[in-house]
Amino acid sequence: MNGAATILWFRRDLRTSDHPALESAAAAGPVLGAFIADESLLSPAGPTRVAHLAASVRALDASIDGRLVVRVGRPEDVLGGLAGEVGARRVVATADFGPAGRARDERVAGELRARGIDLELLDSAYALAPGTVRTAAGQPYRVFSSYRRAWSALDPGRARPAPPVAWLGARGEDPAVLCGLSGRSRPDYFADLPDEPPAPSPAGEAAAHAALEAFVERAARYGATRDYPAQEGTSRLSAHLKVGAIHPRTVLDAVGGADGAFVAEVAWREFYADVLFDDPASARAPWRGTGRPLRVDRDGRARERFVAWARGRTGYPLVDAGMRQLLAEGWMHNRVRMVCASFLVKHLHLDWRWGARWFLWRLIDGDLASNQHGWQWVAGTGTDAAPFFRVFNPVRQAERFDPEGRYVRRYVPELAHLEAPECLRPVGGLLAPGYPAPIVELEAERREALARHAEARGNR
Ligand SMILES: Cc1cc2nc3c(=O)[nH]c(=O)nc-3n(C[C@H](O)[C@H](O)[C@H](O)COP(=O)(O)OP(=O)(O)OC[C@H]3O[C@@H](n4cnc5c(N)ncnc54)[C@H](O)[C@@H]3O)c2cc1C
Repeated sequence: MNGAATILWFRRDLRTSDHPALESAAAAGPVLGAFIADESLLSPAGPTRVAHLAASVRALDASIDGRLVVRVGRPEDVLGGLAGEVGARRVVATADFGPAGRARDERVAGELRARGIDLELLDSAYALAPGTVRTAAGQPYRVFSSYRRAWSALDPGRARPAPPVAWLGARGEDPAVLCGLSGRSRPDYFADLPDEPPAPSPAGEAAAHAALEAFVERAARYGATRDYPAQEGTSRLSAHLKVGAIHPRTVLDAVGGADGAFVAEVAWREFYADVLFDDPASARAPWRGTGRPLRVDRDGRARERFVAWARGRTGYPLVDAGMRQLLAEGWMHNRVRMVCASFLVKHLHLDWRWGARWFLWRLIDGDLASNQHGWQWVAGTGTDAAPFFRVFNPVRQAERFDPEGRYVRRYVPELAHLEAPECLRPVGGLLAPGYPAPIVELEAERREALARHAEARGNR
């Protein structure tokens, strides 16, 4: 390890094990680990997600004996400065496949090259990098089941141990500096919705591995329990995967073929990243056009409804429980995400992008590909083949997936004194003091949603 110093530019790969870019840097000599707080990427992220990111950066720093260097600025400037300080000619990073990350990396690579420094990008945040799984004709897949089949046939390799690293250090900031840069571009329709981050969730590589080990114990029951939000059925790995505190290769290696349903969910994450890679505009625009744009409401009443939804005050207990879990924990169970998203699009007739923005603002696992395409799936503009006619009924979903009302009562205290099924149905203020009456009537709004869809497709 006598070579020149290499800079390992940490981004969404906040760990030391199963980290090919770190292995490559460490093999060449001493390594300076750097994390750059880039305001252009942090300002559209809500304070919740950034608080989790900052906690993950802090945990990484602690795991390498406080040697991580956190600096604020444009990456090309910070990296150029650091390279000068430690005499590095090479920067290594895990490749980013998101639209903003790719544009940034192209720009940074060009600027560094002009200063005689190489930027080398390795691996990805996926078992199989976006752009890898292709049809025989070299095209991206547009249907999940075919993608999954091709994805399963390729080998992501095994988890890799952390390499020995000679860490260098340099002057830097406290990771809390990230929080001050977050949430500066806040849409006006958020009105007075709260911004305070919820109670912190476990962060860092050790916490991610602990969550994985706990999940491996119950992985065999995943298929049977994952749809019941009151149960601890799912892995709770999403926020760790988002910041790269663990690599999906490590997760798949540990869980193996134990549960096909779980592996399929990891494949959904990879599929959505692939779809976004192929069509970056799908982060904002419908992936599958409905014909004419779907008519959505944007007036004062629509904004009031949006705020009632986001606060968990729609009068529909499962929707309200989910939205309050999001407020309280920065996370929401997948089944309930689908129900809440469907309610916003199909019963409130709001733009899916409003809901997606609020999710991204509050979710600690907020991820452009999974979130926007999760929303598009629900809105009927995404990768689902028979999409728009599926209108989740929030009362029936509650009766089916929270039959004892344990989830609803956990997050909606006004209903805690009621038994199931009473606590699962909309109730007026008299039955449950302080709990709102339903803001819309389900059947009438379902018909309205279908009529608007027919109109957009030119059938009316
Ligand atoms: C409207 C909507 C928005 C969503 N937004 C996000 C988001 O911003 N970030 C995010 O990570 N997931 C998102 N999801 C997917 C899913 O809800 C979460 O990944 C899951 O709830 C995380 O919990 P878990 O780690 O316990 O999941 P598990 O059930 O244990 O699944 C394991 C892993 O597979 C991946 N995964 C699971 N389900 C999906 C899915 N439907 N789509 C893509 N990946 C999946 C996640 O990385 C997850 O950690 C969204 C889903 C919907 C319907």
